[in-house]
Amino acid sequence: MTDFRLRGFSRLQAAAQDPIGYARSWKARTGRPVIGSFPMNFPSELVHATGALPLIVQESRTPITEGRSLLPEFYCSYTRSVADQAAVGELDVFDAFVLADHCVQLLGAADVIRWAKPETPMHFAQFISSMDDPWSGAQVRDKVDALRVEVEEIVGVTVTPEVLGASIRLFNSNRRLLREFYDRRKSGALRISAGELQVLVKSSMVMDIEEHTSILNDMLDGLDVDSAAPASLVRLHLSGHFCAPPRVELLDLIEECGVLVVNDDLYHGTRYISTDVPETGDPFDALATWYLDRNVSAPCGTRVQRNVDWDSYLVASLEDSRADGVITLMAKFCEPLMLYYPELRRVLDDRGIPVLLIETEHEGLAAESVRTRVETFVERISRKKVAA
Ligand code: SF4
Repeated sequence: MTDFRLRGFSRLQAAAQDPIGYARSWKARTGRPVIGSFPMNFPSELVHATGALPLIVQESRTPITEGRSLLPEFYCSYTRSVADQAAVGELDVFDAFVLADHCVQLLGAADVIRWAKPETPMHFAQFISSMDDPWSGAQVRDKVDALRVEVEEIVGVTVTPEVLGASIRLFNSNRRLLREFYDRRKSGALRISAGELQVLVKSSMVMDIEEHTSILNDMLDGLDVDSAAPASLVRLHLSGHFCAPPRVELLDLIEECGVLVVNDDLYHGTRYISTDVPETGDPFDALATWYLDRNVSAPCGTRVQRNVDWDSYLVASLEDSRADGVITLMAKFCEPLMLYYPELRRVLDDRGIPVLLIETEHEGLAAESVRTRVETFVERISRKKVAA
């Protein structure tokens, strides 16, 4: 077997574990600006087309100190961590920040950055959250133009359709490669843990996209088919967790309980890589199309669309991956997920699909309690499978 871990995985892991360190060294190496963007809807291609590094600001693992008093305790861990990183100077490497909104709490974090770093440009594009109104497409297209103007001003470079088209093709090919890892895992051709897959996706949010793509190509090159996973393992879908990745220790713990994770809809997972930007026509129109399309590919609890919903998407995805159940990972105080979860739960319950909710927090992991709950859940599914 050709082990993909021998082919550049450690470089992806280093960037995923220390995005700010990666940004500092990239900046020192290239002399070009680093632009911070925020999950979950910003089109990184636009920043890339200026020659700057687009980097999605990540939740830091360090305990929240200064930031504790800057946002209410009932804000999610991602927003409080971003506020903390701004307050303690961790975000100083960024030359500007850009975001396309999706959630009220994220706006609070943006306000803290404005307060902590008043000299650093911050642009906020309010992408419409109602996706299928008659005016939605035109409004999003206008916002893409506003973003383009701001990004051009920040970097001092004009974004031409040709250069943006090239950036779009680069990001599309990166997403395609990442989906290849997902497809191979789903088909059983590749044994890769959920934590390792997270490293692949998270590092793509941080690294120079060409460097990342080259490593992915190398990792896939000549990869042999793995031996099939034991049929006794319970097949699970991981759902939820917007903006920040669940802890790798939590993913490992889940898999240690006799589980094979076969798919997910996590932001640091399928959600992020679900949708390509159209490569024909005007590339600025294409970015607006991408924004509207991705809520169809992977519906999100922060968007409103009458003709798609997360629960139908989830049920179809479970059938496709032959998952036996769902573990929903919910970041504490993530309002969009808290509000949507009862609907998801009702639909899964109605179909007899087992579901377990695990709430996550910034500080620590109640490992033994979570292990007990996952083991009980897995046991319940195993008994159900035997009885079927
Ligand atoms: S969507 Fe959830 S995790 Fe993301 S900023 Fe909003 S509350 Fe936080």
